[in-house]
Amino acid sequence: MKTVIMAGGKGTRISSIASDIPKPMIKIDNKPVLEHEIECLKEQGFTDIIITVSHLSDVITEYFGDGNKVSPATQKPFGVHIEYFYEEKPLGNAGALFYLKEKLRDDFLLLNADSLFNIDFNRFVSFHNKHKGLATIFTHPNSHPYDSGLVFANNKDCVINWLSKEDKRPNFYKNRVNAGLHIISPTLLTQTFTTEKIDLDRQILKPLAGTGKLFCYDSPEYVKDMGTPERFQAVCNDFKSGIVRAKNLTNKQKAIFLDRDGTINKYVGFLRDINQFELLPQTAKAIQMINKSGYLAIVITNQPVIARGEVTIEELTEIHNKMETLLGNEGAYLDAIYYCPHHPDKGYEGEIADLKINCDCRKPKPGLLLQAAKDFNIDLSSSWMIGDGENDVKAGNAAGCKTALIKNNELEQSCNDFDLFSIIKRIIQERQ
Ligand SMILES: [Zn+2]
Repeated sequence: MKTVIMAGGKGTRISSIASDIPKPMIKIDNKPVLEHEIECLKEQGFTDIIITVSHLSDVITEYFGDGNKVSPATQKPFGVHIEYFYEEKPLGNAGALFYLKEKLRDDFLLLNADSLFNIDFNRFVSFHNKHKGLATIFTHPNSHPYDSGLVFANNKDCVINWLSKEDKRPNFYKNRVNAGLHIISPTLLTQTFTTEKIDLDRQILKPLAGTGKLFCYDSPEYVKDMGTPERFQAVCNDFKSGIVRAKNLTNKQKAIFLDRDGTINKYVGFLRDINQFELLPQTAKAIQMINKSGYLAIVITNQPVIARGEVTIEELTEIHNKMETLLGNEGAYLDAIYYCPHHPDKGYEGEIADLKINCDCRKPKPGLLLQAAKDFNIDLSSSWMIGDGENDVKAGNAAGCKTALIKNNELEQSCNDFDLFSIIKRIIQERQ
């Protein structure tokens, strides 16, 4: 598969760091961001690369040449084939693709050179091939969804709506943001536009929302924009600590699994009414600490209210959207939410008979943790399950995780404390 890297941006917002070089040439650990990206592609067999350049393009073309050159940073050849497309006049971020039509005859990767990423490209490509859309966008939760554009999808990962940050948004929403990495079908390059400048999101991708032809690939892997001096510093720190590479899903992951009711939000018995959902104090702070640590933050919750017919799947989704929105407002996010909708005891009015089963996913059984481990390549023995009840500790132990209990009970947990934040602080800080 060919890869097109968009490296034509001006990067004015971080001109305070480097004003004389284009943004993709800014160095992280003595190596340009673009070189980190090319290395990541090369390691996974994506060696056929086209780079679109404009502003100060000589710096880029001289550094990388045709890809056979020896890297000044590593003293080893880049080991890829690189062609360039020079934008003589501004074409928007997608205009160049239409000039490259002849070279782009199959689905191709389209990457933004403004962010640092390290992802499992083959996993992304197989998702795209399986869903057979005209485009797949890489999406992830971020720490500032409130001022980011949002992607909305159905339960088949098909994008139904895509809002800009300026658009009016619903009160509660899933924290799902476009990361700037895409797989695009050349079919999209057969359309014609009256303007020469073409904007990828606004003119090509967003119109596909709701047509059944645009999919989103949710991933917890590392993709971070470095558009401001603060974000650039954060990216440099993450690189130094090893998080950037560690989060690539080809590597074993570690997770902190969190129970929901009584751990994240106030315990109210069976939570049926969204108005009863309230975050516990310091929950967002605790989860933010997980987000920065390199652990995945994954919710594991029993929701027998579904089987009992008291809450619909749609209502539960809305409750979870509220959880994600409240966390997002405070800069924290969840990498995934797993719930068990079942309940074993039959014979109640209004129940959903199909869900009244003795399943493998209801805690204290470890089914949901095992499923998450499979989905995200998680090493359970270096992961934690944290909850406020015996079933959480039992499920965690059954899955082979370390466990922590909120409150001071005498169970076989590895750690206990009175609230989530204290536990997370102990797990993360004491192990650094
Ligand atoms: Zn279940």
